[in-house]
Amino acid sequence: MSLQQHIEKLNALDLRMSSLTYMEALFGWDSMTLASKKGLEQRGAVIGNLSELRFTTLINDEIEATLNFLMDNKEMLDETTYAKVKLYQREYNATAKIPKDEYAAYRSLITKSNNAWEEAREKDDFSIFAPYLEQVITTLKKFIGYRGFEGHPYNTLLDDYEPGLTVDECDKFFTNLRAKIVPLVKKISEQPDVDNSFTSLSYDVKKQADYTDYISDAICFDKEAGCIAESAHPFTMNLSRGDVRFTTHYHENDILSAVSSTIHETGHALYEQNISDAYGVSILTAGVSMGIHESQSRIYENNFGRSLPFWNKHYGKLQDMYQDQLGSIDVETFQKSMNTVKPSLIRIEADEVTYPLHIMVRYEMEKMILSEDINIYDLPGLWNDKYEEYLGIRPSSDKEGILQDVHWSEGLVGYFPSYALGSAYAAQFEFYMRKDLDVDQLLEDGDMQPILDWLAKNIHTFGSSKEPAEIIEFATGESFNPDYFTDYLNQKYSKVYGLKD
Ligand code: ZN
Repeated sequence: MSLQQHIEKLNALDLRMSSLTYMEALFGWDSMTLASKKGLEQRGAVIGNLSELRFTTLINDEIEATLNFLMDNKEMLDETTYAKVKLYQREYNATAKIPKDEYAAYRSLITKSNNAWEEAREKDDFSIFAPYLEQVITTLKKFIGYRGFEGHPYNTLLDDYEPGLTVDECDKFFTNLRAKIVPLVKKISEQPDVDNSFTSLSYDVKKQADYTDYISDAICFDKEAGCIAESAHPFTMNLSRGDVRFTTHYHENDILSAVSSTIHETGHALYEQNISDAYGVSILTAGVSMGIHESQSRIYENNFGRSLPFWNKHYGKLQDMYQDQLGSIDVETFQKSMNTVKPSLIRIEADEVTYPLHIMVRYEMEKMILSEDINIYDLPGLWNDKYEEYLGIRPSSDKEGILQDVHWSEGLVGYFPSYALGSAYAAQFEFYMRKDLDVDQLLEDGDMQPILDWLAKNIHTFGSSKEPAEIIEFATGESFNPDYFTDYLNQKYSKVYGLKD
């Protein structure tokens, strides 16, 4: 087969696999929004079939030969083709090296482990989950053995969620956090509590929906290329750049939750809507990694959407809608309520400053679990010790401790660090954006298009055609530097809390 024929084969594979991805995404959207409960079983069978189809489409000798041939001749490929080869080869290697029967056994273990976790959490009893967690960890270690690793076994899993990420880089990142953010949290904890009670008054949810619609419009979500729905846990689903859907949620007694969730998901959606249209239906038409994706949701949610200039523009409208609740609350008080820092035990309820410390606990535990022989029953105590050390509070039960996250029960080890990296990337992007744009003035004027254009040109447009490290280098002219994040947090929160050095 000639080079050209191999390239055609790759493109045909790309179209077929991306069509399956598209269908799976559509199913995912439907399941989370409108699909009926009674249809669950048949829907499950269809989804199972699609994933089987996905496996046989990718994992076969012909495809392996084409991917190897193209990789051996990579200097003859254009950038786009090379990017596709790399991505499919990654997926191929992650799947093909694991014996099929062992993978099937693992899938069924995950279903059981997930059920056990749910029961354990409900009954607040780690011992129900422990034997399954132990098996999940043993299996993951075995799979890493099949797949191979460079340096540290954890690297293989980190790379699944954030291509190129290593333990060395994470260590640097978290060491810096520990040194600079643990003391900041301690200083803030010594300040008097902020009175946020007005944010949990009764806020009509229909009006909340009108307001969050207005906000996602204001930050440039293209409604003709997507839609917004409701779900318990907000998420974004991209089918193509012209069809990006996200959900949000409304709680009557929490006005901030709907606002911040909507801005967060809009950030994810803007990323997908602004990927270059040159890629068509392709693996490249998707955000490149968890970390870069979170950087886009968080730069809108936290860096812009919790800033005073942003609320100087948009608070008036909210105040008008809720005169009884907000009539006597000025914009500074409102903005401060959005930036309250308080160490807490539950990750998903954490504020911007303590959030990365929750991730640090999980990172240190995952790294240890994968490199040392551990007694599974020691994990809850270890978890609690770390919370006490970094956040100054200790869980009184495993429900508030090690049992709070679903991730490990589903075999998602290596996923957590990308959440914290997202915030850190966002800080670096913002720093460089400010060299080109008067960001505060644009926020103050409600002129969000130049901000979106900057992100689109430097990040979004590439889709998955560049690796995360290459995107950071392109957008900022330097490699990932964790100092931007700790500087950003220190400056912002010293101001919010009026701290002195
Ligand atoms: Zn997100």
